[in-house]
Amino acid sequence: MRERSIGKLWRDARLDVSESSRKGIILMYHRVNDVGSDPWSLCVTPQHFAEHLVVLQKNVYPLRLQQLNKWMQTRGAPYQSVVITFDDGYVDNLHYAKPLLERYEIPATIFLATGYIRDKREFWWDKLERLLLQPGTLPETLRLSVNGIVHEWELGEVTHYSEDAYQRHRHWRAWEEAPSPRHSLYFSLWKLMHPLLESDRKILLDELLEWADIEPVSRASHRVVSSLEVLDLAQGDLIDIGSHTVTHASLAKLPADLQRDEIRHSKSYLEEILNRPVTSFAYPYGSKQDYTAETISIVRDVGFACACSTNAGIVGRQSDYFQLPRMHVQDWDGDEFSRQLSKWLDSGVVM
Ligand SMILES: [Zn+2]
Repeated sequence: MRERSIGKLWRDARLDVSESSRKGIILMYHRVNDVGSDPWSLCVTPQHFAEHLVVLQKNVYPLRLQQLNKWMQTRGAPYQSVVITFDDGYVDNLHYAKPLLERYEIPATIFLATGYIRDKREFWWDKLERLLLQPGTLPETLRLSVNGIVHEWELGEVTHYSEDAYQRHRHWRAWEEAPSPRHSLYFSLWKLMHPLLESDRKILLDELLEWADIEPVSRASHRVVSSLEVLDLAQGDLIDIGSHTVTHASLAKLPADLQRDEIRHSKSYLEEILNRPVTSFAYPYGSKQDYTAETISIVRDVGFACACSTNAGIVGRQSDYFQLPRMHVQDWDGDEFSRQLSKWLDSGVVM
């Protein structure tokens, strides 16, 4: 990072800030794009992402994830240090995020779920979104058997979902009250599928595609990077690649041997493409229900130097490097992002 991008705050503060008050924030992004409906708030528009980078460049000290770890282990992070991470590996990370990161010379780590790179599929939650939250007509009733239990849903008045209704509801978030039976069905299916093994989930998705009479094609706007594009992402000096398992599994739901396979194979696959060690990891879904103490010891064992969760919090000297907290960045404009950042830096809880 060049001196001019460090910002006045940092230059003034590093002289008089005690070690104990030195904290870092790890920001969690997923996509830099505008795709219409986005139930998990994964997208930040390119315009807003550029505004975030301007705020970071002017006011804080952008670091690499590995630098933050190193600093914390030795003397504490520089005052107001911020790390950018991206999860999942959507292709817009290459098309929109990387050029902007380069323009502002700010580094980032991108965590990739390697099974999706190989198969060029959409993530399962995006397939669900395409099935249920896009305009069109679906059968009135859905009956599905999951783990021996039969579930049934009625779509009622939203059997046909109009373009108007889509436009009205496209800003719905999955944690908000569902505005129609399609939205409640989306969330019910998400909850049912989240803990499943990839193979069981695929069977259900195939059943759903057949029910909806929709072609199993991947949308260009929702695909992840190819193996060649992983190399493009990593080219240059700003982007580090990390692992995010093979199938984007909620690891806590898997037996230890399958967890180990998910963690080890994603690491070795990326190392083979990149021809360099991959040392950072992010737990898919990332909450405390998605990994266990056993998962952490496997991640350590397999040779990672750190792992990010999705638990909200600030990084301090006492933080566990294998459960690093992160703050989820939403599609805020520069002013709102700046307010959020100050709030986190002033009062965020160190985890
Ligand atoms: Zn993820």
